Amino acid sequence: MMNELLRVTNLTKRFDAQDDPVVNKVSFTVNPEEIFAILGPSGCGKTTTLRLIAGFERTDQGSIQLKGKTLECPYTHRSPEKRGIGFVFQDFALFPHLTVMDNVIFGLRDIPKSQKTARAAEMLELIGMMPFSKRKPHELSGGQQQRVAVARALAPRPEILLMDEPFSNLDAVLRQTTRDEVRRILKEARMSSILVTHDQEEALSVADRIGVMENGSLIQIGTPEEVYYRPKTKFVAQFLGRTNVFPAMASGLEANSNIGNIMLDRPARGDVLISIRPEHLTLEHTTPANTQGISGVVLNKEFKGHDITYHVKLERCNCIVHTDNRMPFSVGDNVVVKPLEPAVVLDKS
Ligand code: ATP
Repeated sequence: MMNELLRVTNLTKRFDAQDDPVVNKVSFTVNPEEIFAILGPSGCGKTTTLRLIAGFERTDQGSIQLKGKTLECPYTHRSPEKRGIGFVFQDFALFPHLTVMDNVIFGLRDIPKSQKTARAAEMLELIGMMPFSKRKPHELSGGQQQRVAVARALAPRPEILLMDEPFSNLDAVLRQTTRDEVRRILKEARMSSILVTHDQEEALSVADRIGVMENGSLIQIGTPEEVYYRPKTKFVAQFLGRTNVFPAMASGLEANSNIGNIMLDRPARGDVLISIRPEHLTLEHTTPANTQGISGVVLNKEFKGHDITYHVKLERCNCIVHTDNRMPFSVGDNVVVKPLEPAVVLDKS
């Protein structure tokens, strides 16, 4: 393909010959300047995939190509330092006794000494840390340390940057500002990257595309909007955020379900499983004139400031509905639940 930078094909890794593969026929591509997130629960094989790409592990099957050159396959193994790949670790791994400037210079091995300071200064400008160049890591906030770790990995101008849970050691507020800042830095440096995370909000807000991983396999690859609004499976639907999953009887673009008759995103026939996000449902007070939708009773209310989540008891099941904060219902209210969007038909798996 014309534009791809990295191609991973059928990558497969077992740590024990008897066990199931930890990474199972994983295939994806990363384009120039793209931020690609691998998202999945703990133990699904994300870190192992990243370590295979970095060259810290050997693959059993499949291949990894960077700019068309094979880095890894069962018969080829280019050593990590010869791959042109940068790595940012979860714990930042800065040297505590070196200044910010010297930490960044440390990453520069193959350029003349005279150019090292200028290159490091350029990186510190990019991350907005030049005023802190003489500080030691312990004199920085966690977010600043993480930006220095990114600058150090970017300084040798790698072809691609790999980041393993880079924000997980930061508290909630710092995590959000640091991830916004790191996205800006990557885009400004026009750097391709792979971000490994178990945090769906992080993947949705930072990445250009997301690969969702379950038990060693990539289940779905798409833009944040595609994986969130058009999940392929129940696992993807539930991992990407809260949702309602119901069995339904489909006939074409409509189905009969526990939340009444509902439109579908694609034609289907017979027994299907559907997902509808809570923000794609709405509530109205029950009145004699309200004949559309399905009746229920408000069981519980989570007030979250900008919006409210209601748990509603229906005749055959419960559902969750997000509304904005101008729709105040109380526990015990009789309501009518109405879909605002078609439900997504999930693959059976
Ligand atoms: P987490 O988010 O918890 O780090 P992960 O998705 O990154 O999880 P991996 O670290 O890739 O998952 O681990 C996947 C599986 O492989 C786990 O069951 C783990 O115990 C196993 N594993 C990882 N490294 C090794 C190893 N060196 N030897 C044996 N098993 C390993």
